[in-house]
Amino acid sequence: MKKDDCIFCKIANGEIGSDTVYEDDMFRAILDLSPASKGHILILPKEHYDDLFELSDECGERLMATAKKVALAAKKALHADGINLVQNNGEAAGQTVRHFHMHIIPRYESDDKTMVAWTPHDSDPEEQKQIASAILKEIKEL
Ligand code: AMP
Ligand code: ZN
Repeated sequence: MKKDDCIFCKIANGEIGSDTVYEDDMFRAILDLSPASKGHILILPKEHYDDLFELSDECGERLMATAKKVALAAKKALHADGINLVQNNGEAAGQTVRHFHMHIIPRYESDDKTMVAWTPHDSDPEEQKQIASAILKEIKEL
């Protein structure tokens, strides 16, 4: 399904122009309009999914192979020193466009190294066990 008022549906399906770096029957990969680094790419499914939780399994299964291909091409073309794959789901996670997308962010030794960062905290072994068991329980019920 496409969503009428979704800009990424329009871009993915070619109704709005973009700097396309890859396209097949399921995905279009484009350059991000406000890149975090030189060659920042977004992989967009042509079907509309709000986020990871809506993504079809078929699309999810093909996504990583597609990301690998596009990331490798970007790494070679731009002589990047590394690549981050980033994928945000929900406002709390920084998602600003509600059409699933995967970021491919080439990294360079000269980068400021502040983009994909978090503060590591100490972990409590007892709490870790509780967290793991809560997630395991949910997985069994999926
Ligand atoms: P996110 O915060 O994960 O939802 O990422 C949304 C990304 O889409 C941001 O990096 C934006 O710069 C990018 N973006 C928004 N509108 C466009 C557009 N029209 N063309 C290309 N990239 C866009
Ligand atoms: Zn959409």
